[in-house]
Amino acid sequence: MPSNLRIDPERLWATLMETSSIGATPKGGINRQTLTAEDSAVRSWFKRQTEALGCKVTIDEVGNMFALRPGRQAGLAPIALGSHLDTQPTGGKFDGNLGVLGALEALRTLTNAGYETNAPIVVVNWTNEEGARFAPAMLGSGVFAGVYSRAEADAIADIEGVNFGVALDAIGWRGATRAGAMKLSAYLELHIEQGPILEAEDKTIGVVTGVQGVRWYEFIVSGRESHAGTTPMPRRADALAACARLIGDVRAIALAHAPTAVGTVGQVEVKPNSPNVIPGEVRMTIDLRHHDDATLAAMEAELYASVDRVSGEEKVEVVRRKLHDLAAIKFHPDCIAAVREAARALGYSQREIISGAGHDAVHMSRITPSAMIFIPCKDGLSHNEAESASREDCAAGAQVLLEAALALDAKLASGAL
Ligand SMILES: [Zn+2]
Repeated sequence: MPSNLRIDPERLWATLMETSSIGATPKGGINRQTLTAEDSAVRSWFKRQTEALGCKVTIDEVGNMFALRPGRQAGLAPIALGSHLDTQPTGGKFDGNLGVLGALEALRTLTNAGYETNAPIVVVNWTNEEGARFAPAMLGSGVFAGVYSRAEADAIADIEGVNFGVALDAIGWRGATRAGAMKLSAYLELHIEQGPILEAEDKTIGVVTGVQGVRWYEFIVSGRESHAGTTPMPRRADALAACARLIGDVRAIALAHAPTAVGTVGQVEVKPNSPNVIPGEVRMTIDLRHHDDATLAAMEAELYASVDRVSGEEKVEVVRRKLHDLAAIKFHPDCIAAVREAARALGYSQREIISGAGHDAVHMSRITPSAMIFIPCKDGLSHNEAESASREDCAAGAQVLLEAALALDAKLASGAL
């Protein structure tokens, strides 16, 4: 049975639209990159709204914000609900925002009803989820989960050479609390899917069971620069021709592990990049993803075999470097069950889904039972000013978030989580 608490769809929508004016772009999106004046403005707004509900707001040493509503049982660690309020330079209104504002709506619903949870509920706004200004993405939650140190975060420079630590101090949102000091019972994150599956299948709720693993590689392909008119074909060592074969193989490898594997060559730099010189060097990047680490390892082995074959046949040398290796994440069975059961009890159509993108929940799942809730977004579009989700789907997502949190709260009180 679902609770008799119902979130207010109009209030949630109005809040989404209200905050989208902070950093609004002419094309209807948001440019609210992390640690900018716009980020600072939305942080002030978030603090005011949650304090108005009686929450105690704390900020940690990397600027993560925690709005805590107490529970009635001493000794239970808070259940965290959240996401991020920073955006891409040409971001949309929903990526991240829905997760924080949906959690705020849940908080408002609990407060208006005078409902007491057993455990405290804490709504979190993570710093720099997007990674657009300071790479890597998911930085605030990463420091919170112990993946990066505060010193490592502080030292990251943006394109203008400004360090994360300097920018955080400059906007005045560095708190005194050590990141990760707050112990949590569980973490739930509501998010738009950022892909086309829920919309295509006409499902309202995605029960996210995990996040696919990601491996990034950089290859430097070295051949021999020579004259395009005078060098016979059999005598060439054409780095770009070799690169083209590798691009074809990356596609073939992903297709061989269909439908869930993906493979992308997103960057190619050719030297000397002249119309009548056979390319002597190419730098290329490869992005491979799959939700199963064993399959991802097999894809990597196929990629390396392709490199050996192509470099021999094309008479080039390939120096390869792995840039990233993020293991696939499986969310906690109890949290997944809470989401699935909430969607079922509320009568929403649902399907299980693997997240193709990274989220703060990836890092959180290392330290506390975690799961995510997806709702459809129009045309699967995200990281785009035209990003769009319906009022009804946003409301359904927030309602499932609240209901799943209450289910986890009941489980906690009975000692079953
Ligand atoms: Zn996001």
